[in-house]
Amino acid sequence: MPVDATLPYDDSNIFARILRGEIPSKRVYEDEFALAFHDIAPQAPLHILVIPKGRYVSWADFSATASEAEIAGFVRAVGKVAADAGLVESGYRLLANTGLDSHQEVPHLHVHIMAGRKLGPLLAR
Ligand code: AMP
Repeated sequence: MPVDATLPYDDSNIFARILRGEIPSKRVYEDEFALAFHDIAPQAPLHILVIPKGRYVSWADFSATASEAEIAGFVRAVGKVAADAGLVESGYRLLANTGLDSHQEVPHLHVHIMAGRKLGPLLAR
């Protein structure tokens, strides 16, 4: 079910639980600002999610209220995860579903990194 990303942060969401180590994830990167792990239902040969460590519901929330250090740290982490996976030359897609029309399902900001084949047009037609 898509979530209303204008609601307050819910500490019981699944990515908050992953951050707290309460449920397992296949982690690929972690630093002060971000955690990256494999998507549980990959939609490309490589499908990684990168999340900020702070309590941000969505891109809208994060871009408006996160500190400069958090924003810089998170953006750099996304780039580093992609680079460390060897994707700079072949290319990759970033996606951050935000709110109801986007079909955001987890109310903790996450950027999808998808790669590993020619991904085709952005949206289904
Ligand atoms: P979105 O629709 O942009 O909110 O994407 C949510 C993503 O989270 C989907 O691609 C799910 O497959 C993924 N997901 C849900 N639960 C987990 C989990 N426990 N571990 C890893 N990925 C998950």
